[in-house]
Amino acid sequence: MIKKILNKFINNDIKEDKYAYSKDLKFGTIAKDKAPDTWVRSTCGYCGVGCGLYIGVKDGKPVRTKGDPSHPVSHGTLCPKGLTEHEMVVSSNRVSSPMIKKDGKLNAVEWDEAFTHTSNKFKEIQNKYGKNAVACISTGQFLTEDFYTLGKFVQLGLETNNYDGNTTLCMASAVMGYKQSFGSDGPPSSYEDFSYADVIMLIGANIADNHPILKLHIAKNKKITGKKPKIIVVDPRFSKTANMADVFVPIAPRSDLALINGLCYIIMEQGWEDTKFIQDKTSGYKEFRKHIMQKYPPQEVAIITGIDVKELYEIAQLYAGANSALSAWTMGVNQSSIGTDTVSAICNLALITGNLGRKGASPFSITGQCNAMGTREFGFTSSIPGYRNFANDTDRAVFADIINVPSSLIPTARGYSYPQIIDAIDRGEIKALWVTATNPLVSFPDQNKLRRALKKLDILVVQDAFMSETALEADVLFSAATWSEKEGTYTNSERRCNYAKKAVEPLGKSMSDANIVIEFSKYFEGKYELLFQNFQSSEDIFEEIKKVSAGQLCDYSGMSYKKIEELGGIQWPCNTLYPEGKKRLYTDGFECKTEDGKAKLLALDWQPLAESCNQSFPLNLNTGRTVEQWHTRTKTKTITLLNDLAPQAWIEINPLDAKKLEVESGDKITIASSRGLVDGLIVKVTQVVREGDCFVPFHFSEQLINAVTIADFDPKSFEPNFKQCAVNLYSQKHPQGIKQEEEKVVAEIAYQSTKVSQEYTVAEVIKKEN
Ligand code: SF4
Repeated sequence: MIKKILNKFINNDIKEDKYAYSKDLKFGTIAKDKAPDTWVRSTCGYCGVGCGLYIGVKDGKPVRTKGDPSHPVSHGTLCPKGLTEHEMVVSSNRVSSPMIKKDGKLNAVEWDEAFTHTSNKFKEIQNKYGKNAVACISTGQFLTEDFYTLGKFVQLGLETNNYDGNTTLCMASAVMGYKQSFGSDGPPSSYEDFSYADVIMLIGANIADNHPILKLHIAKNKKITGKKPKIIVVDPRFSKTANMADVFVPIAPRSDLALINGLCYIIMEQGWEDTKFIQDKTSGYKEFRKHIMQKYPPQEVAIITGIDVKELYEIAQLYAGANSALSAWTMGVNQSSIGTDTVSAICNLALITGNLGRKGASPFSITGQCNAMGTREFGFTSSIPGYRNFANDTDRAVFADIINVPSSLIPTARGYSYPQIIDAIDRGEIKALWVTATNPLVSFPDQNKLRRALKKLDILVVQDAFMSETALEADVLFSAATWSEKEGTYTNSERRCNYAKKAVEPLGKSMSDANIVIEFSKYFEGKYELLFQNFQSSEDIFEEIKKVSAGQLCDYSGMSYKKIEELGGIQWPCNTLYPEGKKRLYTDGFECKTEDGKAKLLALDWQPLAESCNQSFPLNLNTGRTVEQWHTRTKTKTITLLNDLAPQAWIEINPLDAKKLEVESGDKITIASSRGLVDGLIVKVTQVVREGDCFVPFHFSEQLINAVTIADFDPKSFEPNFKQCAVNLYSQKHPQGIKQEEEKVVAEIAYQSTKVSQEYTVAEVIKKEN
């Protein structure tokens, strides 16, 4: 029954007048008599697919959501999260007023008190310890207008460059990889490339769960091209997406870079490369070829990846033989300590086979959050808005001139990345942290270390629309409006800038995130006048964003709110040359942003895991997502339908490991690494994971899997390696864990730790017991 209903949701096969929840199934609160008074056209605020939708409003509240049939991305369909998004706005978890913590309890206050208290504290800290003692974490959940305003204030108002986004946890490797290969960030592709490619290679991308609407574009392929595309799915886990595969490539965890290098070897060995494209459009081929041919023969690659030599040849032949091959990836590639280089390796493979700048032929990073792309373009975190470099004198001067501030105010270097900010707090260097619309106390790796660091702060300010786990720990809470309560733009994975319209008023005293920042700036002498006096509406902010982007790769100068709404979103660049936007980058006559305009072929190396499985922790943990929940459930934890479908975390283990532990599906087990442990995970015995691997979704604070994950980061992008760390599993019958006879005492203590707080690592538990 549930499946039938879910299918209805996925297919959006629900007629407007019949759209009501069954009371028997207790799926929600909407009844038939709650027909909306008005429908407001907008954009989904969850993920980077960027579906178009309508918000149904009755009596000033959002009561329904339905797909927009005219939207070019989603064609009227929505996933379960999109279809229940209106419930998020009226969640019992919302924050309706600014708050200040007194005697350990958050109390509602007026905005003036919250701003006065916080600004005094920030000034006191900056006077005593320097400007950079205040840090801020931004988010891909904001509208572009929100984080452009926030970035401007943090960098130029507070004058600290210790500013980064939660996008470092998901997209930073794609950014740095594109920069290495093409001289600039910016996915070169369109979703319609899924409809034109002969071969689609999905690498570490479980789109069935995480970007389900993209399957529509694959489904259209046969109709358009006349034949079904070959789908290659590369993943250590047989995910829902793997079910779509013609060729499933079950690689060893984090061996993707070696696989790609091995495919390049075979293609060059066999003479399958596109020599004209290489000569005309790339640089560095000689060194690249030498590197690959020396270090990545198929026999070596087979050992690293666990894929037979014969199969490697078959995959290479399939990819190289395609007229147009699309390689798309998400977190399986990005969330790795070699994520940046893996992204560039995927670009290498596309480049040697001429798969760039044509229909269906591209390396394509699919973003996670609804506006991860917008932060990359205008976030003011790892670059100056408009893809400008901090270190470039001209970039700084031009930007300062456009926004009419002294160029000496523009930082000459990026400050600390997100993980470096946490380390600096732990060292006592940063004393104040301002966290906006993100929830590190669930999403950041190695939670024990994070919790230890946050306790050292003089002040933690959280700006959010929801009472998240991090908000509960705040000294000051700025209550923000959420999706549908504010106006602005989101940019999706295919560079499409979508318009998100305001449908209802913000809850209680909440304000839009941009307005919070603008009002807060008035408590810092002269900053409002310097930075924001022209910002009377969100469209004013957008007009400045357009000016800042003019002439840059991410050019928005030809857009307007009206035009974006009329066209159902516009893909940048949009200017006089491309008045309705451009579907692909690096087409003929459209050069890369490198010194010679050519894409770079780079000699890159695979590296073994930072933490290999060992005697104490013999299994590899992979973490990820499920379609029914959003990130740390800040937005979805009170939505009945979604929680009926995915109420709690689970652990997938292979039947062979289940046999060793003597557990069945539905039993509860404990997982531990050297950093922490999680009790009470519900077992799913399944062939989806291989023997020695296990998988846990990261959404659930009640089973906080990031207590177990490792603080290991890509040195170029600073993105965490969420996908692999060494763990052991402990069952009632096997409290010693797997293959751990000699470690019995250790494991028993770990298993007994159901009585012990998750604040302790296994080592600390042992010490404590001794
Ligand atoms: Fe579309 Fe993503 Fe929203 Fe689902 S969550 S409706 S796939 S934008």
